[in-house]
Amino acid sequence: MSAVRHVLILGGTTEARGLADALAADPALRVTSSLAGRVTEPRRSAGQVRTGGFGGPEGLARWLREHRVDALVDATHPFADTMSFHAAEAAATARIPLLALRRPGWEAGPGDRWHTAGSLAGAAELLPVLGRRIFLTTGRMGLAAFARLTDLWFLVRSVEAPEPPKPPRMEVLLDRGPFTVEGETELLRRHRIDVLVTKDSGGRATAAKLTAAREAGVPVVVVRRPAVPEGVPVAADPSEAVAWLRSAVG
Ligand code: NAP
Repeated sequence: MSAVRHVLILGGTTEARGLADALAADPALRVTSSLAGRVTEPRRSAGQVRTGGFGGPEGLARWLREHRVDALVDATHPFADTMSFHAAEAAATARIPLLALRRPGWEAGPGDRWHTAGSLAGAAELLPVLGRRIFLTTGRMGLAAFARLTDLWFLVRSVEAPEPPKPPRMEVLLDRGPFTVEGETELLRRHRIDVLVTKDSGGRATAAKLTAAREAGVPVVVVRRPAVPEGVPVAADPSEAVAWLRSAVG
């Protein structure tokens, strides 16, 4: 049996790239990162990269077996919960250890005016009483939840252009982090934003908007994260994930 261990990282996040970088120099490991293929020009990851869905949990379990994967790290975005559940099912089927790498969520501080929602639909329900000009930073995939809000105007920021269904009154800003407090403050001012909507993605790259909103007195609707599948251990950053891998696969 080969002494080289194969680690599959389900990626699409800064933490996934950080983990691939941290493992790349280890000759005892072979690292493959998996991307969903949503972004046309993804940022580079160290090691091998494969792209596209696996075909559900059965397809992922098959891939794990065929490629002799020894450990699986689900380092997808905290809101990519379909994939996280597929990972849990597939790892159980393939009988390999699974770790969820999840950066911690954001926490409100003094001066923040946060309203929490359990879903994008819940966030959409809150908006009409909070403001009229909305900065929507929840990504292009969930815009349907806001499509019936015909009286409100949206500034939608996303990496790739959104497709319908989407709100009728909106402007799209194609951009991806990291963002600065100065830049976010200027956006709020220029577009006369009176509500910010965000997922509780956590991390530093996109946190500047929260500081800018606090300083401008703008309320924020924060969509809560889905839970990590039961029983799956969680690492908060790549170094914790490296430590877990060392004990899981040696
Ligand atoms: P999702 O709803 O949880 O997953 C939908 C399907 O996409 C999965 O069933 C799987 O297809 C495929 N998929 C997802 N992640 C994959 C990966 N890393 N490698 C291969 N296939 C993957 O996922 P999502 O929310 O659309 O997110 C897609 C990707 O974008 C993820 O990699 C995530 O890390 C990244 N991302 C998501 C968000 C967000 O807010 N959701 C934000 C930033 C980045 P099969 O069933 O065919 O395997």
